[in-house]
Amino acid sequence: MPAGHTHDRITLWTLPAVTGLVFLLTGGNSELALLVAAGYFFSGLMLSPDLDLRSRPFRRWGWFKWIWVPYQKTIKHRSIFSHGPIIGTTLRVVYLACWLSLVVILGLALVRLFSDFSGTDRLSSLPRFLSQLGRFFRNGALWSYRWQASAFLLGLELGALSHIISDYTVSTYKKYKKSKIKQLHASGRKKRQSPSRRKGRQRK
Ligand SMILES: [Zn+2]
Repeated sequence: MPAGHTHDRITLWTLPAVTGLVFLLTGGNSELALLVAAGYFFSGLMLSPDLDLRSRPFRRWGWFKWIWVPYQKTIKHRSIFSHGPIIGTTLRVVYLACWLSLVVILGLALVRLFSDFSGTDRLSSLPRFLSQLGRFFRNGALWSYRWQASAFLLGLELGALSHIISDYTVSTYKKYKKSKIKQLHASGRKKRQSPSRRKGRQRK
């Protein structure tokens, strides 16, 4: 597989092409093109399939890189669950969403605790916030962003696909090179053996 910096370069070099192509295919929709580009960029540098090992994308999470440790312990490097098309991105998005939900829930619980201690009415903002959130989902407000969300998810998947394709291309090339070297060694051995065989045959 290519080194981490090669994957980074591939992401950066192909980013303008992906953005331009989406811009053309969507009839000049710059918002969707930028969202696909953002997803592609984030997928290549941060949400890469190589989060299944201590890679450059893993280290880029800085203080938060530990959130990917259970993921690495569960998923084998280059298994279908990290390097499989669609399934890899889906699992990483769901995994990250679980962590984000946990952070939001813990944050809200802390706010609640803080308001209880302070004795103010600030904690009563939590149920209000939750009911607002519920209304947001019920009113279908999220649904109105479906195209934007889909564009970003598409970008994530395209970024993962570019990674998978480059992994596959490089490992296939390496296998081919190895088999060629083996063939050369084998033919070299045959050539070295052939003069003695010839001599043997001449003596007979
Ligand atoms: Zn990889």
